[in-house]
Amino acid sequence: MEQTLVIIKPDGVKHQLVGRILQRFEDRRLKISQMRLDNMTEDVAREHYAHLKERAFFQEILDYMTSGPVVYLVLEGENIIQLVRNMVGPTDGAKAAPGTIRGDFAVNKSENIIHASDSPEAAQVEIQRFFGSVPSLIEWVS
Ligand code: ADP
Repeated sequence: MEQTLVIIKPDGVKHQLVGRILQRFEDRRLKISQMRLDNMTEDVAREHYAHLKERAFFQEILDYMTSGPVVYLVLEGENIIQLVRNMVGPTDGAKAAPGTIRGDFAVNKSENIIHASDSPEAAQVEIQRFFGSVPSLIEWVS
């Protein structure tokens, strides 16, 4: 069983897309094991996007991610990391296929609605970052 960390970014919350995005995950019977509406502090945003700190748009990302509340989620299931990345689509909403979350709700590569972990290593670090080592809250019946 694998876990992944998803963030519905401030534009997703602001444009009231939380329910529609969650519906997509539930439609595929993906299991939500953690969920929280919260603000991201600039320090945490800086850490989360540290791999982009040399890029010219780094401050833009920090401003975007701290511009309003976000929803943090942990989803779990078999091959969940790749499965959710496929549902999210590529970084640039303008290039994402219709049917993907970014392809349906985002139009560029900066404000692109959603984040999802891209590897098991990243998922582990990101779940720890946003939820600590809290165990799964829900005992799911398959
Ligand atoms: P992904 O979120 O698809 O894993 P990255 O880790 O490369 O992609 O980028 C992290 C986030 O930084 C993107 O989701 C997007 O919000 C922002 N970003 C990436 N590239 C750009 C860019 N050229 N201009 C502005 N923001 C960007």
